[in-house]
Amino acid sequence: MDQDRRELVMFDFDGVIVDSLDVFSTVFLDACTAAGVPGFTTPDDLLTLMEANFYAGMRARGVDDARVAEVLRRLGEGLVRARHWLKPFPLVPEVLEDLADARTVIIVTSSPTEVVEGWLRTHEVHGVTEIAGAETARSKVEKIDALLARYPGQEVYWYVGDTAGDIREAREAGVTPLGVSWGWHEPEMLMEAGAERVAFSPAELLTIVAPELAGDFFGAG
Ligand SMILES: [Mg+2]
Repeated sequence: MDQDRRELVMFDFDGVIVDSLDVFSTVFLDACTAAGVPGFTTPDDLLTLMEANFYAGMRARGVDDARVAEVLRRLGEGLVRARHWLKPFPLVPEVLEDLADARTVIIVTSSPTEVVEGWLRTHEVHGVTEIAGAETARSKVEKIDALLARYPGQEVYWYVGDTAGDIREAREAGVTPLGVSWGWHEPEMLMEAGAERVAFSPAELLTIVAPELAGDFFGAG
């Protein structure tokens, strides 16, 4: 099949593909301390921040753009170093590989592209066509807008995410947010933020975004 004719499905990375809250929050809190940004001392502080766009959330706490940039630089460097410790959620890599037979899978993430690329390579996860990482734009809305222009005419554009901020940004970009139950925020929060559905397992995720493939995944096809 011509790859460009495959419909686009967008995935967040942290909390959807990798079980990264421990590593991410440790690196993030260290970065805040090193950059002299007060008020972030526990993983819950990070979870609260992820209820909206990262930049907007930092600004709302009075952190100026220069220090946000400093936190992000340190966060990016720390995540590259800690990449090895990021573990995949069971069966999510298999779902990505199956899905790639029928869809164009693009990761839209606030993590640096280098982290995601290296992680996919070392974990031998195949099927991801492209990564729109931290460098490409500040908001997921901007990244999604750019992708919609390249993949026009779909009836549904799924964005798979795990935080209320992701879900809100997907809605703002005009795509359909699908929450996952295994990520950073609870399913109820994702529904309140506007998720169309919440998938409670990777197999259910596949059933929702590509119903025609689900039989094969369960071994029934
Ligand atoms: Mg996430």
